[in-house]
Amino acid sequence: MIVLITGPSGAGKSSFIAELMVADPRLAFSVSTTTRPMRSGEAEGREYDFVDEATFDRLIAESAFVEWAQVHDNRYGTRRSLLEEMVAAGKIPVLDIDVQGGVQVLDQFGPELVSVFLFPPSWEELDRRLTSRGTDDTEVIATRLRNARREVGYAPRYRYWIVNDDLAAAVARMRAVITAEECRADILDTPPLESDDLG
Ligand code: 5GP
Repeated sequence: MIVLITGPSGAGKSSFIAELMVADPRLAFSVSTTTRPMRSGEAEGREYDFVDEATFDRLIAESAFVEWAQVHDNRYGTRRSLLEEMVAAGKIPVLDIDVQGGVQVLDQFGPELVSVFLFPPSWEELDRRLTSRGTDDTEVIATRLRNARREVGYAPRYRYWIVNDDLAAAVARMRAVITAEECRADILDTPPLESDDLG
């Protein structure tokens, strides 16, 4: 199983994923590679693998990415080797990526992909959340809101829709999704008990 989580900026993806990871130790966060400068409070290899533009170009040339995209002014990508290592270690990778990367992942993986689109409860609430961060000016907030309205257009491609109205409730719904996915007959393929051939 691979979990793909996409949602507009301000939907609360980071807190949602952080809570989810605490709740289920089998999940492992897929640390993306980015050209974005490190923010204060971030650590190399924890939030991201921070690289320069030349290194990112080289990784693209080596086909090291399952997907990559330019988001705002920086590039972000998911390393194929990292996903393979996590799966080999028996972990369930959790990908936090934007819609452009999300569609690339949706196109590449089969039923083992659990795709989730995280919605803010309303446009008014998204505006309030982006404004209350206090980190961005009104122009940046207006751009994020416009982008969010475009991004939700991709939601029909995702298998699950979760509204992040209340963090604990949203995480509980996500845990139920994972539990249900683990019971899917088409993925398990071999039934837990053999049947007698009555034919
Ligand atoms: P931030 O710079 O605020 O951490 O992330 C900006 C955006 O980049 C978020 O929407 C996040 O989901 C997205 N992102 C992070 N890692 C990846 C990645 O590996 N691939 C893609 N396509 N988007 C990513």
